[in-house]
Amino acid sequence: MSFKIDFTLFNEVLNTNPKIIITTHQNPDGDAIGSSLALFHVLKNVGYKVSVIIPNSFPDFLNWMSESAEMIIFDDDKKNIAKQLIEGAELIFCLDFNALNRIDKMEEPIRIAKGFKVLIDHHPNPQVNEFHLVYSLTTASSTAELVYKFVEQKGWKHLINKDAAECLYAGIITDTGSFSYSCNHAVTYEIMVSLIEKGIDAENLHRLIYDNFSESRLRLLGHALSRKMLIIPEFHAAIISLTKQDLTDFNYQTGDSEGIVNYPLTIREINLAILLTERENMIRISFRSKGKFAVNQIASKYFEGGGHKNAAGANSYVSMEETISKIKIILAEFKDDLDYIIVK
Ligand code: MN
Repeated sequence: MSFKIDFTLFNEVLNTNPKIIITTHQNPDGDAIGSSLALFHVLKNVGYKVSVIIPNSFPDFLNWMSESAEMIIFDDDKKNIAKQLIEGAELIFCLDFNALNRIDKMEEPIRIAKGFKVLIDHHPNPQVNEFHLVYSLTTASSTAELVYKFVEQKGWKHLINKDAAECLYAGIITDTGSFSYSCNHAVTYEIMVSLIEKGIDAENLHRLIYDNFSESRLRLLGHALSRKMLIIPEFHAAIISLTKQDLTDFNYQTGDSEGIVNYPLTIREINLAILLTERENMIRISFRSKGKFAVNQIASKYFEGGGHKNAAGANSYVSMEETISKIKIILAEFKDDLDYIIVK
């Protein structure tokens, strides 16, 4: 479940006492922020100068993480500071994304940066030639899991303090839906044991992550499920569409639509759930499936997106109505693949 990382070149860079930055994908989630901050804590404990730079803001429900306020948000007024840090970095960690085009406006600065680039990620098809060291394992539950393994192989496991352990916990728990998917490997549970041994309060962290809705967020969820969910029985599919108006009506804050896409899958006959969220110049599409149906094939083939077998994302640059029509046509093509029931 793991492979041996060749640290030869990496160690040479480390010996020069490099300035380090860590970055992660656009619209960072629990795994992106959790794995980045965990690595940040470990590298700081080793004694390095390190900064975390993220492409845009992160959801509020993650702001309990130690030093989360120190992260530099690239699209804020700190863009120039961020650019200087990227330019001056001798070591650049890229976490939880598989290609530089996943980091939006940071793509160009990172691409031309001279630093030694390390990819740690669990998405399929990593663009290996964009990095100097690639630690990519699609069977891993989360990037947090891989950060743990990376740190362990490097001999830094003892430097995972409680702060880092809490961040790793958040990454694993959010990317597995509280151990409900991508978690059929013993290694994930073994890591959880060692995080508990580092002194984390797993029950309380779970509450901080999941019992953290605002009233308007919960009402947006209710609205989405009761008014905006279209069930297409013949495809075992559900589509939830949220317009800008819906978001405004429910005082939308970053991250409020997170997780809504999973609810339709709790219906027995539904194998595919799609959430469409209207953004500034596009429709954001989230795909989820249960069982064998691979949603990343639809995301990549029809919308230039990507992701995992059971969780993928993409953008659509036509209207909400046109996007829904397009999806219905696509689903017709996969009708047979979607026609299955989950059995023991
Ligand atoms: Mn992830």
